[in-house]
Amino acid sequence: KTSGRGRFSFFSNEMNLLAQERLALEAALREALRKEQLHLHYQPQIDLKDGHLYGVEALARWTHPEIGNIPPIRFIPLAEECGLIGELSDWALREACRQLADWRKRGLAVPAVSVNLSATNFHNLELPQLIADTLSTHALAASDLTVEITESLLMDTNPSTMKTLGDIHAQGVRLAMDDFGTGYSSLGYLRRLPVSELKLDKSFVRDLARDEATRALTNAVIRIGDSLRLTVVAEGVEDSTQQELLKAQGYHVAQGYLFSPPLPAAELERWLREHAL
Ligand code: C2E
Ligand code: MG
Ligand code: MG
Ligand code: MG
Repeated sequence: KTSGRGRFSFFSNEMNLLAQERLALEAALREALRKEQLHLHYQPQIDLKDGHLYGVEALARWTHPEIGNIPPIRFIPLAEECGLIGELSDWALREACRQLADWRKRGLAVPAVSVNLSATNFHNLELPQLIADTLSTHALAASDLTVEITESLLMDTNPSTMKTLGDIHAQGVRLAMDDFGTGYSSLGYLRRLPVSELKLDKSFVRDLARDEATRALTNAVIRIGDSLRLTVVAEGVEDSTQQELLKAQGYHVAQGYLFSPPLPAAELERWLREHAL
């Protein structure tokens, strides 16, 4: 009986600790957003046909003053759960557009920027207007921006989602289906959604060289993309064998450590100039 009680209090302490940690992290994230302590890194996307720059993907980074770097895999789900993802995404959209306009002012021909959004962002019927305002603030065209969505959005039954997606698409902003092949992907959904780009998930790229079944699947994906006239981007390309296999299958664009990791804006600028891109 005594040990039972002891164990109970052990677990409840443990849970308190986790809950406290979470609350502290949530408060820290709220503060980081307010003080603009988040920043974006940018990863180049390379056209496999001619080696030109196709665009860059903006990825959020958070360096906590005491804890240090906290990866997106931790703070994005946290932001989604505690209602901060709206604010985070507004910030990411504005910052990415500001940066693109800034690069262009200084003579860098960056064709487009991609921003990751979460499923709940599309419940917000004001999102299309926010995007339109942000683009016009920086004198950018709708085609300068790509919005990355994940397959989880397809499971979203919120009635606003389809309307918001449709409005964003109607403006001429491109939609990219991120992590393609990992989620609940249904070809029927692909037909209904106004996407312009498919991003093959990096788990497929990782297994490409050693697994024939994976190669058969990636081949099927590029064929689907081509028949629907979508641009197909391979994520997580780390070596030239993967690059060659993807290129041979007809993949249009590749992104990964082989070319460059995601970099702070100034470092990406240097990288682009060095590679004459
Ligand atoms: P994602 O959008 O699929 O982004 C690609 C992830 O792969 C990034 O991880 C990137 O750093 C990583 N990566 C790039 N090249 C390679 C490679 O060659 N090999 C490997 N193994 N990984 C590579 P990161 O930056 O940690 O972001 C993780 C995820 O967090 C993103 O996946 C995205 O879903 C989410 N995320 C990041 N920033 C944001 C944001 O601003 N808003 C939202 N909603 N989600 C974000
Ligand atoms: Mg992405
Ligand atoms: Mg993603
Ligand atoms: Mg992805």
